[in-house]
Amino acid sequence: MPDGLHTLGRWTRDRARATPDRIAIDDRGVVVTYRELDARAERLAASLRAAGYAVGDRIATITGNSSDHVVLFFACAKAGLVLVPLSWRLAPRELAAQLEIAEPALLLVENEFESLARATLARLARRIPNAPLGTHGVEAEVPAPAVRGLADVPPERREVHDDDALLIIFTSGTTAVPKGAVLTHANCFWTNLSFSRIAGVGAGDTVLAVMPQYHVGGWNITPLLAWWTGATVVLERTFDPGRVLHLIQERGITTMMGVPANYLFLAQHPDFDATDLSSLAHAIVGGAPMPPALLRTWHARGVALTQGYGLTEASPNVLCLPDEDARTRAGSAGKPYPHVDVAVADPVTGEHLPGEAEGELLVHGPSVFPGYFRDPAATDATLAGGWLRTGDLVRRDADGYFTIVDRIKDIYISGGEGVAPAEVEAVLMGHPAVADVAVVGVPDDRWGEAGAAWVVVRRGRVTDSAELTDFARASLARFKVPREVHFVDELPRSTAGKVLRRELAERSATRVEER
Ligand code: AMP
Repeated sequence: MPDGLHTLGRWTRDRARATPDRIAIDDRGVVVTYRELDARAERLAASLRAAGYAVGDRIATITGNSSDHVVLFFACAKAGLVLVPLSWRLAPRELAAQLEIAEPALLLVENEFESLARATLARLARRIPNAPLGTHGVEAEVPAPAVRGLADVPPERREVHDDDALLIIFTSGTTAVPKGAVLTHANCFWTNLSFSRIAGVGAGDTVLAVMPQYHVGGWNITPLLAWWTGATVVLERTFDPGRVLHLIQERGITTMMGVPANYLFLAQHPDFDATDLSSLAHAIVGGAPMPPALLRTWHARGVALTQGYGLTEASPNVLCLPDEDARTRAGSAGKPYPHVDVAVADPVTGEHLPGEAEGELLVHGPSVFPGYFRDPAATDATLAGGWLRTGDLVRRDADGYFTIVDRIKDIYISGGEGVAPAEVEAVLMGHPAVADVAVVGVPDDRWGEAGAAWVVVRRGRVTDSAELTDFARASLARFKVPREVHFVDELPRSTAGKVLRRELAERSATRVEER
């Protein structure tokens, strides 16, 4: 089979030929047809190539969801460039660390985030050319790319291949150090092909895309499947529950995807009961466990929910629980998606365990990423023996259904965003009054989980929770700042010196008096 058939550049071109006049994107009233989407992406790809950008160069962005960003995405796909969408929720320190790794040839910034970008760039030794993204005209000017290093190879000019990188999505993975997960064209192709066999999104669908475009869910699976099949994407910048309910009813949204917190906020909104939800044929929820009571609330409104389990490194779909199974198998994460192989392994020995078993979930298949950008050690640790280690502990039952039992990796998930406690701890250790600290994820009604910090204060120093959270806020995205701070004389540790996190999580339930 000729290479390049599964590239996303082909994807929009074929779609524009099939349904040129259908609306691909409705971005708050700015409408882009499939013909325009492909033509704009083609023009921008040509300008980028002419300005000197070559296959494999990275283009980073700091932007909210926008049609300009989508045009840029497909332009990058056509030119073989790699889009690195950075999270606008991060602090300059965090963004600078990601830019150091990605070494983009260009940073495009939406006006709203200009001061954030300026503060970020000021922290970098290396100069990165930057330019505004949009409003609705990224094609206008393309600055020259950053000069490649002295030892660098000349720019690569060739066709785009299926296995070329398309996106780098930063994720904390299993450690505190930020890592850029590389997703290829083929990864995205297979994810969407696989998903299309579960949820029948087609040309007649109207898809609400509200997951942030710095997250894998901002591209895979719903918006990209929509652009593959000729559906219309209603693009929203942020998740405003009242507005989303309004859009479902007024626009006849058929398909949407969100994390459990999104569905919770919709269900809690005063307009929920009165909103006509009958158009919503494919509602997908994933990224964290769906609380059974919340599922019942949606069922009571006649909405079927497909539940998904996945991770960025699997781009992201791994397990799926269709709604008909949810009614009989509450709490299960379902079975593997088509074209996804999974195994259960002993977390210590790595031995694959057959049949009914409990162990670490491993994933294999064409949607599994090739590795972390410029991080061979982390890649080797994560892709041991050709299988992706998820860091999640699962149980497989006699019927082949999986339940997520626990997390082996040290992260927690707050409102769909992964937080590495070690990163938060490192920041808090920078406070002069902190002698020792451990951060754990604890259950939270709104966000699924939130951070609790356990702090040992240095002798002779005084501090309080407000001071420490203010201090953390200066260096961390808000969703990483601990919700509660407890002060203790010492942290519980194992004989090997490891902090006993589970004990702290249990203690968090019974709050300790703040000093
Ligand atoms: P991310 O790569 O940031 O999307 O985070 C992936 C992680 O989120 C997984 O490794 C799981 O720990 C967690 N996760 C995702 N989906 C689910 C789910 N349906 N149930 C429980 N945990 C989930």
